Amino acid sequence: MYSAGDVRVENVPDPKIVEPTDAVIRVSRACVCGSDLWPYQKMEHSDTGRVMGHEAIGVVEDVGADVRKIKRGDFVIMPFAFSDGTCAFCHDGLQTSCIHGGFFGTTEVAGAQAEAVRIPLADGTLFPVGAHADDALMASLLTLSDVMGTGHHAAIIARVTLGKSVAVVGDGAVGLCGVIAAKRLGAEQIIILGRHADRIALAKDFGATDVVSERGDAAVERVRELTGGFGVHSVLECVGLEQAMNTAISIARPGGAVGRVGVPQEQTIPGSEPAFYNNVTVGGGPAPVRAYIEDLLPDVLEGKIQPGRVFDRNVALDGVPDGYRAMNDREAIKVMVTP
Ligand SMILES: [Zn+2]
Repeated sequence: MYSAGDVRVENVPDPKIVEPTDAVIRVSRACVCGSDLWPYQKMEHSDTGRVMGHEAIGVVEDVGADVRKIKRGDFVIMPFAFSDGTCAFCHDGLQTSCIHGGFFGTTEVAGAQAEAVRIPLADGTLFPVGAHADDALMASLLTLSDVMGTGHHAAIIARVTLGKSVAVVGDGAVGLCGVIAAKRLGAEQIIILGRHADRIALAKDFGATDVVSERGDAAVERVRELTGGFGVHSVLECVGLEQAMNTAISIARPGGAVGRVGVPQEQTIPGSEPAFYNNVTVGGGPAPVRAYIEDLLPDVLEGKIQPGRVFDRNVALDGVPDGYRAMNDREAIKVMVTP
């Protein structure tokens, strides 16, 4: 990506081992993220461009001399953040705060919308799946690199447990995975706030019990009506815009919690006053998806959850620019890339 709206497919030098803790993986599947749409809409021109993509599954092609756990030929999930797996925060299961870590698809570390990608700190970062997956499973495994883990994180931070009422703000891939996560954690009522017919239909399939398509005050009123006037125990904020956050805080019941995973597009958190007077806990951030793979992978392998259904388009590398456009125009929910 060179600037807003300017995505090009180019030949670049093959990634190779730079540090002895690196690996190189050949990408089996990658995808375009909703969060990639923020630079797609706003990025200032860069002469060198940015190799995009932070979600991938692939096969290890090469490992550095100090890599111990990951082997050539391993089929692996690449979480969107790299991490050493050994620092205090990695031990706490918060790999996105790893003191040696960072994010793929930045100006410093090339991304995965590519044929191959260099993986820093391979032993800590990569999660070997064990078996090579068939095509049907690929899509769901790919979601464990970001959107399924991120939706799960929102649900954990929002304290979703058995019998709770939950609202999910946003009907993108993360919001839809948030519905799966809420259902999986035992939520009794799951209200999806969204307005795209195809996404709503999928949300219902995933376990949403109610749909609110209004916005702003009307949405708040509707959620209160659906919850005996009080609002929900748990809100998953999966958008990142001011209005979404305002709505999220306004529909939480007193003592409730908001788990925010939408990448914020403003410097301040709105809704300070209602959050304070209602004792609403507001938390969240970049999901430590590396920590959640262990939990979520068995359900994916057994077919108990099928988060891969959020992909409604598959392109080769040369289709990536149009994939961005399609997601930005809300023509596609999420675009998978098969290099
Ligand atoms: Zn660490």
